[in-house]
Amino acid sequence: MTPSSERDLPILIIGGGIGGIATALAMARRGQAVHVIEQAAEFREIGAGIQMPPNAFKAFALLGVVEAMQKVAAYPDHLMFGDMLTGDIVYRAPIDEAFIERFGYPYALLHRGDILERLVAACRGSELVTLTAGERVTRFDDTGSKVVVETATGKSFEGCGLICCDGLWSMARAELVDDGLPRTDGYVLCRGVIPVDDVPEEHYSKTVTMWGGPGLDFFHYPLRRHEIFNIGASYYDPNIRPGPNYPTITRDHFLKQFSAACPHVKALLEHIDVSRTWVLHHRLPVKEWSSGRVTLLGDAAHPTSIYISQGACMALEDAVILAEIVSDGGSIEDAFKRYRDIRYLRTARIQFTSREFGKLYHARGAQRDLRNSLLAAAGPSALADTLAWLWGGSLSADNPGYM
Ligand SMILES: Cc1cc2nc3c(=O)[nH]c(=O)nc-3n(C[C@H](O)[C@H](O)[C@H](O)COP(=O)(O)OP(=O)(O)OC[C@H]3O[C@@H](n4cnc5c(N)ncnc54)[C@H](O)[C@@H]3O)c2cc1C
Repeated sequence: MTPSSERDLPILIIGGGIGGIATALAMARRGQAVHVIEQAAEFREIGAGIQMPPNAFKAFALLGVVEAMQKVAAYPDHLMFGDMLTGDIVYRAPIDEAFIERFGYPYALLHRGDILERLVAACRGSELVTLTAGERVTRFDDTGSKVVVETATGKSFEGCGLICCDGLWSMARAELVDDGLPRTDGYVLCRGVIPVDDVPEEHYSKTVTMWGGPGLDFFHYPLRRHEIFNIGASYYDPNIRPGPNYPTITRDHFLKQFSAACPHVKALLEHIDVSRTWVLHHRLPVKEWSSGRVTLLGDAAHPTSIYISQGACMALEDAVILAEIVSDGGSIEDAFKRYRDIRYLRTARIQFTSREFGKLYHARGAQRDLRNSLLAAAGPSALADTLAWLWGGSLSADNPGYM
């Protein structure tokens, strides 16, 4: 089959989360027809806030949604790190004009629902995107000349390629990579989103603040034009094992974990919703996530710990890079391999770096003292200098962006 006739069928996308919908939009903007199949009844994100550093906005620019996102973003004036036990802020990085000039975009804060809603709206405006909800893909077959997927209701769909954006618990990864369950370091997280008016003035700030403690962390930042406030907290539980069934906990149990926290953290913890928990998972990088006409994208390919706020950013980057490569012509197989080769080391570096940041946040004893001392001595641009490889540079297939 020649490359032009193989494109007579759309590219199939499993999963209508941020990764799948961004991929659909990126492909359509480059003239490629796509069909997204999502298991949920609607294309909708639940959950809370998400930090979108400048590299996310480079992807939004290529997706044509910068303005739409800017309308619902909040912008912090600083990124800060505090010691949860003493209540001392030990590091402050300004998000100022110099930051924006350096990286091209500010550091933004968005509600997940707002991001997905805007990406879905842009997809609905394209004739090249078909969106099917309420269909769970149960299997796929790469015949060599096309891909056929089947769903739990007995439907089947055909495509010239298959991009699996089916998230952390990816069914497709189990077939393609077969590396077992995701890993966990044993952290259980709860969140809260509250109207800004409910936050006592002395506890409100326009910052992203991460409070680190021994086996603990707590973070807060404003969202949606500073109208709402996002909080999240996690604690280490040695009994946690990898798996999709997250524990049910009581408020007492949760608050007990933070009994040594400073008054500021304790006051904000009152607003955490313990009715839903997340066990934080990640994987170690692997190189082989494309095979023939099938590839993985976003959390299905490289799920990361959350500590440098990059999981969704990576999915957005994957989407625009893959669309760029696919639009170059050539076979789907070659395009998927090239995409994997380009994305592998950048996403691996993010996965490794994120876990190191997590260790810093959760440090105990001498490590904690050393962390506080070194951070207190670090200059205001130290964080941006450390992450310049990540937030800076151009987003294109010619720039792998991991150095
Ligand atoms: C607490 C927390 C905080 C985070 N904070 C940030 C942050 O600040 N910044 C950031 O960039 N990232 C952050 N992340 C990471 C980010 O949420 C994920 O990396 C991102 O959502 C991954 O998107 P995805 O589309 O790959 O997967 P998902 O969002 O998981 O989407 C997968 C989709 O596939 C669908 N699906 C699954 N299986 C099937 C199937 N068989 N058939 C059909 N559909 C299927 C699912 O229903 C879902 O809609 C955070 C994560 C957590 C847990």
